[in-house]
Amino acid sequence: MKNRLRNKYDVVIVGGGPAGLAAALGAQEAGAEHILLIDREIETGGILNQCIHSGFGLHYFKEELTGPEYAERFIRSVLSGNVEILTDSYVLDISPDLHLEVISGNDGYLHLKGAAVVLAMGCRERTRGAIRTPGFRPAGVMTAGLAQKMVNMKGLLPGRRVAILGSGDIGLIMARRLTLEGCEVVGVYELLPYSNGLTRNVVQCLDDFDIPLHVSTTVAFIHGQNRVERLTIAPVNHQLVPDPSRSRDVNCDTLLLSIGLIPENELSTRLRLRMDPATGGPQVTSTLETSLPGVFACGNVLHVHDIVDFVSEESLRAGRFAAELALGIRRPCDNISLQTGENVASCVPHSLSPDREQTIYFRVKQPMKHCLLTIGDRYEKKFRMLIPSEMIRLTLAPEVLDHYFGGKLKIDVQPQKVA
Ligand SMILES: Cc1cc2nc3c(=O)[nH]c(=O)nc-3n(C[C@H](O)[C@H](O)[C@H](O)COP(=O)(O)OP(=O)(O)OC[C@H]3O[C@@H](n4cnc5c(N)ncnc54)[C@H](O)[C@@H]3O)c2cc1C
Repeated sequence: MKNRLRNKYDVVIVGGGPAGLAAALGAQEAGAEHILLIDREIETGGILNQCIHSGFGLHYFKEELTGPEYAERFIRSVLSGNVEILTDSYVLDISPDLHLEVISGNDGYLHLKGAAVVLAMGCRERTRGAIRTPGFRPAGVMTAGLAQKMVNMKGLLPGRRVAILGSGDIGLIMARRLTLEGCEVVGVYELLPYSNGLTRNVVQCLDDFDIPLHVSTTVAFIHGQNRVERLTIAPVNHQLVPDPSRSRDVNCDTLLLSIGLIPENELSTRLRLRMDPATGGPQVTSTLETSLPGVFACGNVLHVHDIVDFVSEESLRAGRFAAELALGIRRPCDNISLQTGENVASCVPHSLSPDREQTIYFRVKQPMKHCLLTIGDRYEKKFRMLIPSEMIRLTLAPEVLDHYFGGKLKIDVQPQKVA
């Protein structure tokens, strides 16, 4: 096994989820000869392996697939090419000159060098500690993703009577999954006045199964010494503070948390990459290169995506650009800085170049009806509805960008008066 590996690669990819797999394909298509994909799990595919519901691939493959089916298509393409795959292997550190320290189940301690490195480590879920819910610390409190892994991969039920805190997509999908498995889902409780998941998931996972969604509501106390016994549920005021005078108790044995995702950027911060507090990921150029030349980022480690198809598209480009750099092809530097206006929560990439078509992704801060998106004064688009849980993807033509050469370009959304 040891002899199989080289010391030097054109492109090394950290993470073998949908982002890493697509980056490997992109690097291969762009002509990189030596590509290494590293993942800490036994199998590639990332989170998709536990997402056995359908709804993946509608944009990318124009058909509806399950998570494992979607991953399988990429894994097959990667396996048929020249990409080496190193699983059960954890990237411990990356130095600024792109040496990687890896600990591998089969190969032991490894020291490798990449001419370019693609970061594709995905994200993890926020836990109870992040929101400091008062109460006891009984068994039965877990993230929705862990419950998904238990049910879909291990054949275990997390409990019988389940409450869900947070209305992120994973929580919504688990409300339906657990109902289908015979559990009673007593309700989904959301702090904000609107759902944090995609509208299609609210309809298909809650409404279709008569599962109530309580917005502007939170779990104020967790009861139970050994196992969750009940929750105190309270509405919140406009400052998101629970109102104890209107609280009530709900009996249940399990509390699932679906309260947000955190990009896994420990390696990025050790590398001292310039980060974006709004996305939790590194700042990148239009070629998805970070502030350290030769290091690229894509997928959920860069910014949390709601649709895996966009992850694949973005990561194919990251892989291509990484391979070009490794092969000595340098594109012109970006010369336009992209900035967010008052109603835009985040935007990727952080700079643009007018030399080619540019893809940008953004999210709004709060739900907005009938609004106008403006990018500088040369691009406008009307939207009937924008919500923070839906990331918007746009393509900008070079003509839109030419005018801002060497300057700043602002992206913003403003409500419009409806006649
Ligand atoms: C629990 C959960 C459920 C989800 N369910 C859905 C869903 O139903 N539908 C949907 O569209 N999206 C879902 N998502 C979003 C989904 O994560 C993304 O669409 C997509 O999987 C992101 O791809 P990725 O490759 O960036 O990340 P991931 O799929 O998370 O892959 C990252 C990979 O990097 C590896 N890795 C991380 N650090 C290291 C390291 N240091 N060394 C080696 N390997 C490393 C991990 O093992 C993992 O395999 C879910 C996300 C989570 C967290």
